[in-house]
Amino acid sequence: MIHAPCMASAFAQATVIGNELAIAFADGEELYLPLPMLRRACPCASCQGEPDALGRVVKPVVELGPRAFDLVKIDPIGGYALQFGWGDGHATGLYSFDYLRQLSLLGE
Ligand SMILES: [Zn+2]
Repeated sequence: MIHAPCMASAFAQATVIGNELAIAFADGEELYLPLPMLRRACPCASCQGEPDALGRVVKPVVELGPRAFDLVKIDPIGGYALQFGWGDGHATGLYSFDYLRQLSLLGE
């Protein structure tokens, strides 16, 4: 019998509870992330900007409408990230679990 490698932080599930996203891992670790903070931290290029030829990153102005903080879709990506779909149709941000952990530490 072959045992699967120990995935200490394997993703288990993500659930919206009130105004927070709760992420549970198979080893019992849990992260709680307020949805507005999660959306503002969207790591995609149209939210965070891309470095220009000189390496400067100019953060774009992102208009966030009333539905921008509604989390309507959660797609696990390859066991290492989550892709979120928001109520205003924005769905290009890939949040790695490491990134989500960093965000949850910022919120404490
Ligand atoms: Zn984005």
